Amino acid sequence: MIASNVLLLIVQAAVYFTVMMALLRSRRSIGIGVFMCALGVMHFLETYLSSVFYIQLPFGIVSPGSTVLFTGKLLMILLLYIREDALVARQPIYGLLIGNLLLVCLVMILRNHDTVSVVEGRLPDIAFIDDLGWLMVWGTLLLFIDAIAIIVLYERFGDAFGRHLGWRFLVCGAIVLTLDQVGFYIALHAVYGTPFSVFLGGWAAKMAATLVFTGFFVTYLKFFDDEKKWFTARPFKDVFNVLTFRERYFDLLDETSRDHLTGVEHRRSYDLNAPKILQDCLDQSRPLTMLVIDIDHFKSVNDRHGHQVGDEVLKAIAGLLRDNLRSGDYLYRFGGEEFVLLCDRLPAEGAVSMAERLCKLIKRYSLMYLPEKVTVSIGVAGAPEDGSSLAEIFQKADLRLYEAKNTGRDRVCGPVIAD
Ligand code: GH3
Ligand code: MG
Ligand code: MG
Repeated sequence: MIASNVLLLIVQAAVYFTVMMALLRSRRSIGIGVFMCALGVMHFLETYLSSVFYIQLPFGIVSPGSTVLFTGKLLMILLLYIREDALVARQPIYGLLIGNLLLVCLVMILRNHDTVSVVEGRLPDIAFIDDLGWLMVWGTLLLFIDAIAIIVLYERFGDAFGRHLGWRFLVCGAIVLTLDQVGFYIALHAVYGTPFSVFLGGWAAKMAATLVFTGFFVTYLKFFDDEKKWFTARPFKDVFNVLTFRERYFDLLDETSRDHLTGVEHRRSYDLNAPKILQDCLDQSRPLTMLVIDIDHFKSVNDRHGHQVGDEVLKAIAGLLRDNLRSGDYLYRFGGEEFVLLCDRLPAEGAVSMAERLCKLIKRYSLMYLPEKVTVSIGVAGAPEDGSSLAEIFQKADLRLYEAKNTGRDRVCGPVIAD
């Protein structure tokens, strides 16, 4: 019976490792969410098993929840960190913590129900639900500490173990799981009065599970993956800087695509992205319209009030345009005081009335808040009726802008729309 228990645990670990590793490996094609959700579901089973499901092993009584599933989850978080970074690894860590707090919160409300029995003789065990909830919170708090500790240790031991990934994995797992076993046993003892033999049995089982998972991992590296990809050599203090580095990189990317003065995306961004936006619309037969917006007599604003005030006026108008974007609108500062607005899914009629609205809005705003009345002229063109390349569409919109300028400014010129 004991032998079959050991065998069953190994089979569970093998199935768990194979499926989770397959999800981790295919995260680029199916999305990392699949791996994360599976991890969350397994966490629930793990806590349930840890509180009630125990089996006899040669070295004591253990639960498959706190051996196979808990050890597996921690190592999966470590593997996720190694393949991605702290930014990604913190997602399941925070998700599990917040999800469990929510669970306990709902249980607190649920326990006030007057329940009825639909299956003869079976009523929910409210005390069990309460215990489970708190045990889950405690387990998750521990996991939170464990997950951070295993990542930090893993980086710390980078130099000591060099190329011996398996040893590095094993030692980190063993240290963190020992600490975890102490923490979890304290809670189990407090809630259920669990005997000390369970601590020893559980600890030995966690060590065995770490060994088994390390074996699977080393086998996986040998036969299914390129070992080099799994080496990380981030300096210890950079473990969490990697995260800020990545955030800073995205911030920088965002910043460099924007014009410094107005915060609107600039011409380079237009050249880079607008062709793709147009192509997507053409491919999917969606209307796309372009508004070319130019401030009227802006030079005289500068001449009368100075360049600095001119800058403020420009910022205010760019701000107004940004505040009035729909989803699917893309705004670019095309030149000095000229903006291009691309509107996905907006047919020409809609674009002309939107342009007229913007004209009125800017004029009204300027009368209230700017040093003098400011108006804009707008030329509107659309795909596919005005052309199927960005240059053609821009040329049409620009021609109409000139028409608006030549016929008195403060107006919109668009395509002639047949009734
Ligand atoms: P209109 O378009 O109505 O024909 O007249 P305009 O005076 O606006 O003419 P134009 O478009 O040729 O002139 C644009 C002026 O915008 C020239 C320049 O002084 C001003 N300008 C361009 N970029 C900036 C900027 O970043 N800040 C400020 N303050 N002025 C700018
Ligand atoms: Mg102008
Ligand atoms: Mg201009």
